Amino acid sequence: MRLLLVEDDAMIGEAVLHVLRTEHYAADWVRDGSMADEALRTEQYDLVLLDLGLPKRDGLEVLRALRARRNSVPVLVATARDAVGDRIAGLDAGADDYVVKPYDTDELLARIRALLRRSAGRGEPVFEHKGVSLNPATREATVQGTPVSLSAREWAVLEPLLARPGVVLTRGQLEEKLFSWKDDISSNAVEVYIHGVRKKLGADLIQTVRGLGYLIPKQ
Ligand code: CA
Repeated sequence: MRLLLVEDDAMIGEAVLHVLRTEHYAADWVRDGSMADEALRTEQYDLVLLDLGLPKRDGLEVLRALRARRNSVPVLVATARDAVGDRIAGLDAGADDYVVKPYDTDELLARIRALLRRSAGRGEPVFEHKGVSLNPATREATVQGTPVSLSAREWAVLEPLLARPGVVLTRGQLEEKLFSWKDDISSNAVEVYIHGVRKKLGADLIQTVRGLGYLIPKQ
């Protein structure tokens, strides 16, 4: 899953980025409203963590522009503990949820998981399909109830496919889940991690759709 962190405070930004990457999210960090706007126009994200008080362009302005473009990426706004008015304005401008600063890391991560779950159209916290189950909160994977150890990047390619059985994801879309801007991408990275997943979970779970990408069949 690829996240955009919008935060102008260097210390907070570094700390949150570290937490997100430790949880194996591919995360990009921008420090002002103009850069956030630019990133949101050019890149595909699964979720945005948006501070509202930003230089150059206010967070609310960025959010309104995003929704005016009919971009429905989940947005979690960050506000000060006592700033009830900001939370209301954020939600009314199209945010899906809010977190208060200073962050409680566990709460932040739980809200991110909940939003990602809802945006994938699921209520239940665990992905389960064809005997394979993934729990994003504990990062436990099982096949027919037996635990399997997946690397962070194997998880990153499997999760979006398992979240939407029957939907084809292109190699480019899967690359976006794997890497943030600063990572070097080898041209066969997606194939490598798909291969790893197949070795661990069975060769026929993920199907290659020639010329299009990959999918996990519905049935
Ligand atoms: Ca700020």
